[in-house]
Order: sequence, then C-alpha cells, then structure tokens
Amino acid sequence: MLILSHCRTLITSTLAPVGLTIKRTKSINSFKATSRRQQLYAEHLEQLNAIAEQLTLASTIPEVMNQVAACAERLVGGQRVSYCEMAPDGQSIQLLGLVGSDKDQSGHVMTLEESGLGDIFTTGVGRYVSNLENATSAHGRALSSSGFNHVWSFPIVCGGTVEGVVNIASPEIELHPDDAFSVVETLSRLIGSTIERIKAREETQRVSHQLVKQSTTDPLTGLCNRAEFHRRLQASIDTAKACGETVGIMFLDLDLFKNINDTLGHSVGDDVLKVVAERIKATLEPAHTVARVGGDEFIIIVPGAESGSQLPLMALAIINSVKRPIPSELFELQIGASVGVCSFPADGDNVDDLVKNADIAMYRAKDLGRNQYHVYTTELGTELNKQVELSRTLSFAEQNNEFYLQFQPQIDITTGRIVALEALLRWEHPVEGNIPPDIFIPIAESSGLITSITSWVLENALAALAVWRQVQPDLRIAINVSAQEFSGNSRLVERVHSALYKYGLPADALELELTETAFLTHPDKAAELVHSLSSAGIKLAIDDFGTGYASLNYLIHMPIDTIKIDRSFVNELEQNPSKQAVINGIFTIAEEMQLACVGEGVETPGQLAWLQRNGCKYAQGFFISLPLSAHDVDHVLDKHYSMQLAA
Ligand code: C2E
Ligand code: CA
Ligand code: CA
Repeated sequence: MLILSHCRTLITSTLAPVGLTIKRTKSINSFKATSRRQQLYAEHLEQLNAIAEQLTLASTIPEVMNQVAACAERLVGGQRVSYCEMAPDGQSIQLLGLVGSDKDQSGHVMTLEESGLGDIFTTGVGRYVSNLENATSAHGRALSSSGFNHVWSFPIVCGGTVEGVVNIASPEIELHPDDAFSVVETLSRLIGSTIERIKAREETQRVSHQLVKQSTTDPLTGLCNRAEFHRRLQASIDTAKACGETVGIMFLDLDLFKNINDTLGHSVGDDVLKVVAERIKATLEPAHTVARVGGDEFIIIVPGAESGSQLPLMALAIINSVKRPIPSELFELQIGASVGVCSFPADGDNVDDLVKNADIAMYRAKDLGRNQYHVYTTELGTELNKQVELSRTLSFAEQNNEFYLQFQPQIDITTGRIVALEALLRWEHPVEGNIPPDIFIPIAESSGLITSITSWVLENALAALAVWRQVQPDLRIAINVSAQEFSGNSRLVERVHSALYKYGLPADALELELTETAFLTHPDKAAELVHSLSSAGIKLAIDDFGTGYASLNYLIHMPIDTIKIDRSFVNELEQNPSKQAVINGIFTIAEEMQLACVGEGVETPGQLAWLQRNGCKYAQGFFISLPLSAHDVDHVLDKHYSMQLAA
C-alpha cells in the first residue's frame, strides 16, 4: 500500500534525473516514457483548465459534485466522488454530495471514526491510498470489494479552514501516481474556491432574504406589516385598474383589547394577538392578504371582492372565528372584533382613501355596539367629514367668542321660587349657526376639548351667579360635568375651588350635575372625586336619572344631594301609569335617602300638578321657563325681587 501525504505541485520536481550509466535503448525508452508522462500530464492540466471555467457557473454543491465527478473520471478514472463536511456537533461527518453510487446517500451522517477522515479535517493534508485490497479500514475494504484500487481524500479549504473533504475512488489510473496526486490536489483547490464562492453567495442571499422579511413582516404575528400591506394594496389596485376589477378591504379592530393588556398584562395580550392573527388567516384564501397595521388593528385585502356581496360574508366569518373562546393558562378568554368594509373603486381609488373609509366603517360598527361589521357608504363618509370639520372649528370656538350660556330656572314647585339656574352651553358656529350641545359635547369629549370647555362654563356661570346673588343671595347655579372629568388627571376639584374662590362664592352655591356614566367608566376615580367635592360642600346631582345602566348601589355609597328625574319619564306622565309607578318608586328611594328630587322637562301644567301632588319638591322645564339668556335672568330676578319688596 502506498500512501502519499505531501503535496506535490510540479511534475518536474517528481521526475528524478535520468542515470548516465543506462543503455541507450533504455534511455530512449525512458525518454519516451518521460515525454509520454509529460504529455499526459499536460493534457490533464488542460482538463483542469476546462473544469475551472465550468465551475464558475455552478451554483449548488450537488452541481459542483456532478461536474467534478465527470472531470475526475477523465482525470484519474474516478467513478465515485463524494463530498462531506463536519456535522455541527463536531463529532461526525455528513455526506453532502455523492456521485457514482447506487444509493443516494446525500445527508447521510457517520462518525469520524467510521469515515476514517478525522486526520484530514485536523491536519488539512490530503491523502492518496492505493492497493485497497490490503486496506485496514472498513470503508477501504468496502471500496476494494466494489472494484476500486485508488482513493484520494483531499481537504476542501475555504477561507483558510478545512470546510470538508472530497473523496475520489478509481479502479485504475492512467497517470503516474505522483501526477494523479498533483492533479487531484489542484482539483480539490478548485472545488474549495467554488464552494467558498457558493457559500458566500448563499449567505448574502440569506441575509438579504432575512432583511426583506424583517422589513415586510410584523415580528409578533408573522403577518405583513403596514409597509408591506401598503405595497400589496397598491399592487392590487394597479392590477384591478388594468383589468377593470374590484378590490375589497376589511379593517378589523379588536373590541376592548386594551382591557386585556391592562388587566392581564402584555404577554397575554400578545398571545391573544397571535391567536387572532392565526384565526383570521385560517378564514382566508392564498390570494388574500392580512396585515397587522397597529396594536390591535388588522387589514385584509381581498382582490376581486365587492363590499356588496362577498365581503360581508367574509367579515362575518372572521368575527365569528375571532370570538371563539381562547384557551389561556388560567381561564378562557373571549374577545370581539369590529370590522369596517369598503372596496375599490366604489369607495376610493387610492390606498389612503380606502384605508380611511374602511376605518370609518369600522368605527361605525363600534358605535353600533361592537362585535359586528359595517359597510362603508358615502353618507357615512360625509357625516364623518362633517364631524371632523366640527371638531376642528370647535377648537377655535372659545377664542373666537362663539360660546355663550343660557340658564334654565329650577323652581320650588310649592312656592314658585327660583332656587337654581342650570347653565346650558350654546355654540354659535360662524357658518352652521347654532349647534346643539347634544352634537358638540360628544365631539369635545372625543377630541379632548371637554376640560377647557367645562372650565369656560364654570368661569362664566360663576361670574354671572356672583352678580345675581347680590339680588338673591341663596341662588345656586347647576353645571353639567362630563363623565370624562371624573377620570384621570382632570384636577376637577382644584379647578372648581379656584373658580369659586375667584368670585368669592361659597361651595354650596354650586351644584355639579353628573350622569350615571361617570360611575360606570371610572368607578374608583369618580368615587374619590365625588367624596372630595361633597366634603368641600359642593352640591351634587345625578342628571337624567333612570336612563343610565349603573346599579343603584352607587346611591348608597355616594354623597349625592339631588336626583334629576329624566324628562323621558315626565313626558306623557299623566297618560302612562307605568311611568307614574317608576317616578313614585324614585320618590320613595329619594325620601328614604333624604335626596331632593327635580322633575325635568316639565312641559304641561298637568305634569307639574302631578309631580306636586306626588311629593316632588322641585321642577324644571319649558312650561316653567325656557332656557334664558343672562340678560333675561337679570329681568326675571329683578322682577321677583321687586315683587318681594312690594309684598
Ligand atoms: P341636560 O343636562 O339634560 O339639560 C337639559 C336639556 O333639556 C337642555 O337641552 C334643555 O334645553 C332641555 N329641556 C329643558 N326643559 C325641557 C322641556 O321641557 N322639554 C324638552 N324637550 N327639553 C327641555 P340642551 O340645552 O340642548 O342640552 C342638552 C344636553 O347637553 C344637556 O342635557 C347636557 O347633557 C348637555 N349640556 C348642555 N350644556 C352642557 C355643558 O356646559 N357641559 C356639558 N358637559 N354638557 C352640557
Ligand atoms: Ca343637566
Ligand atoms: Ca337632564
């Protein structure tokens, strides 16, 4: 067995000088043999040049192996060529390419010992083994029994490290063994540089693929992100334009998702988002796109769909799938979704308009009670645009002096005396004229303007009251306070105190009217504020009593002074025994708890008489007085005062 373990590069170095003592014929023969060997070698070098060129085109390792195998056959009669690399565990090797065997063993893993290649990996030195019939390794004997006599095993060096080993097995060689060694060594270098190039390209591709994925994917759910959604919707619109087709859009927002995050923590919130993403995906087809475009917002693109037919059915399927209970570690969670639907070209011809309109429709679905879909209409858009415009002009209303107050008297039914005035805010819009508070107060609440509006009302109402109390010192003023003032950091108590102080008014000159909603949305904060206001001496009234959904429980715990019976009960009171029964019930509660009762919205003498007969002490309504301007209040109080003086 001959083992060559050293690299030999040039044939000249392997050709020993010819002896001078040999005979001429021998010398001629030797010369012939030498030149034959040189010629053969030169031919093989040509082959190597050709393979070098071919390999520049190979793009995968199996491709390299196929080309190398063909070349190895021509060079050294190689019939089996394999390429293996060290497995990631560093203990075994993995076959990555094999040509010339019956079985495709690509991917086959064997121990370093089994392979007999460990020393090549560690030393980086190539090896040639011949006379395999005498081989000691199992691998060598197996090759021998398959008819192979020569095996070359060469390290494949990439970037200075041994990346793998190439093995070439041949039954017989034409070349001188030293030349064959040199040729195979050169071939292995070529393989090394080719594999290095392929791996570098694969790495570049992997990195750029990863970068593309990162820039288009939402990391939490794996869905498209906003940028990718934008690109896809634009592409769908372009295609639809070219083919005269439609594109459906669905904007989905989870209902009350914030509650899950706030109460159960963000990691539960994230899990819910992942489940929702999966569920939405499961209802869609491959041609559809679903993207997560915000915290709990998803948009779905459905090429070819219209809002009229297919989309509502799909929206319903998504809503039903999202609302299925979500198993969690401790208990089952359930979440609803509101979906807005619109389509190209009917509801917009560009990405921004379509998203905006689907969003508008989604908000309408929320307004209508959540957990449902709503289809966009032009009317809906006009309405919303008007609201947006109102919200914009509302923010300038105060500085443009467009606000003023009216005051509606509350009387003591028995004496007819005015005991309080309810301040009612008016907005004189420069273009639209008088806008009712029922319209602009909700806008002020949603746009964050309500705090400054309440302060304006407080300031102006107390300023007016300070003057009127010179005529009627026990007159009170009632101010409506939005439920939002009972949340967060509105500093309501401080603002009320400083306004009272500014006009030198006692706390009980002011009554704040709040609705049951204040106790529903922010129960703890509301309770805290109500207690501080009450202990400072400020009067508190429950407005629109009976229309809210709060449990009456709060009446027991809150220091309330007055109940204002909503006008829906007072309306048609005389003809409706049920309303009478409800009001009588309220009177009983009020009496038990020593609360004053005001009947609101009194429009007829009959209603006033009924209230009086049944023990209601105070009343307010158009029959008694319409809301009055400050100037009219001056007159009313003056008249009252002169009547008192005359008496
Ligand atoms: P509210 O607090 O229930 O105020 C009483 C409303 O009923 C007033 O409407 C008043 O004009 C109307 N009204 C009084 N008597 C009668 C009657 O006999 N029949 C009928 N049909 N209506 C009667 P207005 O001024 O349009 O106010 C509507 C709502 O806007 C108020 O309801 C209140 O919730 C809100 N609002 C008014 N001013 C303010 C304010 O300064 N701040 C806040 N947050 N809300 C205000
Ligand atoms: Ca009120
Ligand atoms: Ca009311």
